[in-house]
Amino acid sequence: MAWEVYALCPGGRTVDWSTRLYLHPIGETTTSAYFLWVLRGPKGPLLVDTGFTHRLGKVKGAPVEQLRTREELLEAAGVDPGTLRTVILTHMHWDHFDLEGAFPKATFWVQRRELEFWRRYGGQEPWHQRFLSDCFFEDVDAIRSGRRLQLIDESYQVADGVRVEWVGGHSPGMQIVVVESATGPFVIASDALTSYRNLRDWMPPAIHINSVAECLDAMKRVEVLTGGDERRICPGHDGEVWRKFPEVGPGVYRLA
Ligand SMILES: [Zn+2]
Repeated sequence: MAWEVYALCPGGRTVDWSTRLYLHPIGETTTSAYFLWVLRGPKGPLLVDTGFTHRLGKVKGAPVEQLRTREELLEAAGVDPGTLRTVILTHMHWDHFDLEGAFPKATFWVQRRELEFWRRYGGQEPWHQRFLSDCFFEDVDAIRSGRRLQLIDESYQVADGVRVEWVGGHSPGMQIVVVESATGPFVIASDALTSYRNLRDWMPPAIHINSVAECLDAMKRVEVLTGGDERRICPGHDGEVWRKFPEVGPGVYRLA
């Protein structure tokens, strides 16, 4: 079954490459974009990551005045957040997981070790807390108590033609999404790659909470799955996506 793949982008901000690529020298800037993704197939849309509210973006220092809202993006992509059934979480950092009551009917698919890390050590240790939404625990409680949380160990077929694979590295339970598209397997790498330059220059992401070695293995895996074809890869934060793929609605990019 062939799925259509869309990236939804609220916008981005200028950052130094040293905050994106591990041990890159300072002094060279790039555009860091935010993304969530929509998969379209016969069984209805499927969301990959939730993005974040403007309220949380402001708390975290994102330039929210210049960003499209999540509601605007979902509407432009024709997704009704009130009836959406399935959300895959690539990981649980604040820019990828923030509910605050959104998606009340959806079931969330996340790696068990991602949830366990952030519920225990990561969610309690002060330095690591920066990666989480300030309502992380309320959001997790809401979907757990509503029996809308599904835990994955390693690899899992979430739907016909949509598979997740644990890669770790950037976050303990980081997972990539492999989607059967009309042009072959498309990989939503999310933050397993911060940018295309991870592969081009063979440099791990600057943020690697679990391990650099896992980041490098993840990069290798994305390369194997796609033959290194950048037209079948979407990184987690690369503004180059805006130029590489057609914009079919405001902030909506057709990837495959
Ligand atoms: Zn991210």
